[in-house]
Amino acid sequence: MKEEKKNIKQKIEEVGKSFKKFALKGSMLEIAIGMMIGSAVSAVVSSLIKDIINPPLAKILSGVDFSHRYFVLGKNNFESLEAAQASGAVVFTYGNFINAVISFLITAFVLFCIVSWVGKLNKKEEKKEVSKTKKCPFCKSDIDKSATRCAFCTSELKKQITFLNEKQL
Ligand SMILES: [Zn+2]
Repeated sequence: MKEEKKNIKQKIEEVGKSFKKFALKGSMLEIAIGMMIGSAVSAVVSSLIKDIINPPLAKILSGVDFSHRYFVLGKNNFESLEAAQASGAVVFTYGNFINAVISFLITAFVLFCIVSWVGKLNKKEEKKEVSKTKKCPFCKSDIDKSATRCAFCTSELKKQITFLNEKQL
């Protein structure tokens, strides 16, 4: 009985360890953060459409709420969308579809802005990292910046060449 308990405890610890390994992987964390940002962005965008964009649009479109725009297949006229749907008629709620398309376009644009912004930040960071190597002007190999003789082609590197190299960087 005691040994069984020990075994179970060991197994739980093993599972915990492997889960920790899995969860602490950098890519997992990045995916989780990405999903959180994605859902936050989509919440903001859907609010933008519902609360900011649609009201004036509804005013322009003769006071009809955009999300309640629909088209019924056939000649029957229904008092409301609910009545049409309840009767089992084929109802195209194209207003909802247009909303979805607009929300997709805005979400894609916002995500594009975020991605390009992060890309720019990364580029700046890369530039800050000063290169420790230079190119040998004779054989084009990467050699240490302070080298006075190339390790590959044994050419002597004069100060003038070093200066030119630094200017090129
Ligand atoms: Zn060389």
